[in-house]
Formats: sequence, C-alpha cells, structure tokens
Amino acid sequence: MSRRLLSGMCRRHKVVKNGEAELMKWEENVRKVVPYTPGEQPRKDNIIKLNTNESPYPPAPGVERKIAELDIDKMRLYPAFPEKTDLAGELADYYHINRDQIFIGVGSDDVLSMAFLTFFQSEKPIFFPDITYSFYDVWADVYRIPYETKVLDENFCIRPEDYVQPNGGVIFPNPNAPTGILMDIKKVEEIIAANRDVVVIVDEAYIDFGGVSALPLIEKYDNLLVVQTFSKSRAMAGMRIGYAMGNPKLIQYLNDVKYSVNSYTMNYTALELGVESVRDEAYFKECCNKIMKTREEAEKELTRLGFTFPKSYSNFIFATHKEVPAQIIFEKLKEHDIYVRHWNKDRIDNYLRITIGTDEQMKALYNALEEYII
Ligand SMILES: *Cc1c(COP(=O)(O)O)cnc(C)c1O
Repeated sequence: MSRRLLSGMCRRHKVVKNGEAELMKWEENVRKVVPYTPGEQPRKDNIIKLNTNESPYPPAPGVERKIAELDIDKMRLYPAFPEKTDLAGELADYYHINRDQIFIGVGSDDVLSMAFLTFFQSEKPIFFPDITYSFYDVWADVYRIPYETKVLDENFCIRPEDYVQPNGGVIFPNPNAPTGILMDIKKVEEIIAANRDVVVIVDEAYIDFGGVSALPLIEKYDNLLVVQTFSKSRAMAGMRIGYAMGNPKLIQYLNDVKYSVNSYTMNYTALELGVESVRDEAYFKECCNKIMKTREEAEKELTRLGFTFPKSYSNFIFATHKEVPAQIIFEKLKEHDIYVRHWNKDRIDNYLRITIGTDEQMKALYNALEEYII
C-alpha cells in the first residue's frame, strides 16, 4: 500500500479503544485517499494574490461580449460533446491539427485525470519527477496506479536518462512546476523516443510563457499526449477548460473512457466562451508578453532583494532568499495581504513560488519585502 493511502487511513483512525485505532465496519470498504491541496483562495477583497498562477489580466474582450449573447434556451438542453463543437474546431485551426487529434475537458486536471485512468493500466510503475505538480501522485493513488518518482538533479532539472528503464508510462510538466524550469525540446523528445511502448504525457500548463511546445512531435510519435489549459495564459481558470492533443487513436481511447464516466462534463457557457478566447490571438499574445516582461523585471528586483531562483519560463518565479527563511517571508507577506505559495516539503521548503502579477502588484510585493521583511 502506498504511503499516501496509509496516511489517509491513519488520519481517519479517530476512534481509539484500548490504544488501538478502530475503523467502523463500513469504512473497510471505503476508497481512502489524501486529496490534492490547492493554493488558498481567500475570500477577502483587496489582497494581492500571487499564489495560484492565475493571470492578473482579464480574459479576451470577446469573452465578455459573448456573455451578453449567450442563448438562455440552450441551457435547457444537454451540451454538445466537446469534440463536436466550435471550440474543437477553433483549437484545431489554431494549432494546425485535425479535430480528431483534440480532446477537451474540464480544465487540464480533468484531462490529466482521464489520461491517467485511460493510459496508465500497466503493472509496471509510471514515472514522474519527485518535485513536480502535486496532483500526479494523488491520481496515481486514487486509480491504484503504481508509480516511482525520479529525483531532480541538484539544479532541479529532470534527467532524461532516469526515464529509460521499463515503466508503465511517463508524465512530466514542461516547464516543470513549481520550479518554472524549461527542458530543452531535444531532451523532451529523447524521453518520448525512449518510451515508444508506453504513453508519454507532457503537461504544458505554462508553455505559452516562452517555452517550446512538444506539439509538432505528435505527428512523429503516436505515444505522445500534449496537455494544455485555458487557466493560466488564457486567464480563464474559473471557466475550467483544458485540452489534450495527440494521435487520433489516443484521443479515441480517451473519449471512450471519458464518456464511460460522465458524458456531459463541459458546459455550454465554457464551450462558447472558450471559442472567443482562441479567436483573439493578438490579445492572447499581448498578455503573455506583458507577463514575460514583468517576469524580467521581477528577476532584477528579486535579485536586488537577495533572492536566487532558477530561470523561469512560466508565469511564476521559484525563489529562495539568502538569509530569511521562506516560511517567515510567506507568513509576513500574508500579514500584509500578499499571498504566495510555500510547501513544507523536503528540498523545497525554503522556496516560495511567486506568481507574476501586474507591474503594480509586483511593486507592492517588492515594497512589502523591503519595508517589513528583508
Ligand atoms: C495549473 C496546472 C494544471 C491544471 O490546471 P487546470 O486549471 O485544471 O487546467 C495542470 N498542470 C500543471 C502543472 C499546472 O500547474
């Protein structure tokens, strides 16, 4: 039994009799998991929220216009299957692929979860980095998929040579989270090429902030699934839209499983509004560029304030301070209504993940750091 399942059980052993934990009879038949813990979503107004990698900018103007034009009568009906909607067509055109190469889901979390359930059926363990998106081990546990984590090198880089042993599948984000480090596309291809007999998933949640996508490789490798999302670069985390791109056979298998779990997951509103976002390429590029420019400024300012960090290709910076412990900075910033992300996890507990906000929000962060903390 995995560590997570065990700790999940222990946590629920609340009734103690004669020093021994006692489960209610029915609890023996319960699927016990430790759920993913997302970053805080405080209900307060006027906070500076740099803790969950949301965009500080609004969605494309067309999205707002479209809201006023939504057809209330359509809400009476079940929505169309996503791959039959304009959203699939728009995405296919945008990426110059066919619509049978696209799977659309309720955020990339839904897409990734379905991909775990569909493709990771081997008895051999799947591989992913030890420091990465902390949902992977949760899905592996909930679906009873054996897994092995591969240790990042001393610079927090993925070592492709770790991913050549026999396995049941491979998944990693590129850029990686929460480090923001981009792996060279040649190394990404190396991992895909070394694993032709299993499915390799590249989670590209942050690819639009300066990275090179593995998407063109789907024509060459039928075992590659590239997953992206509207939540970060497209400023629509609240709409829950994610998608996977790959060989039509992979997509067909994904759809078969998805429609066997819950057919109508994508709602009419999200499907309609997503189209407007994809149509406005100029606005999309402008927002990504603004965030990358603010990131450059943040590199300078955080360096000046005594932080070090790996070069980021995402909309966040993963920083550690030379003198002040991350936990203290995290708590003090919170007292001043500035939220960043911190994990009490081995090797990264002295780091903070700081989402790139607007220039104004970032200035408030530097000021707070300077005035109260450092
Ligand atoms: C944010 C994120 C996701 C999930 O985002 P959705 O909002 O579910 O689309 C997936 N992978 C990584 C690495 C992320 O950071």
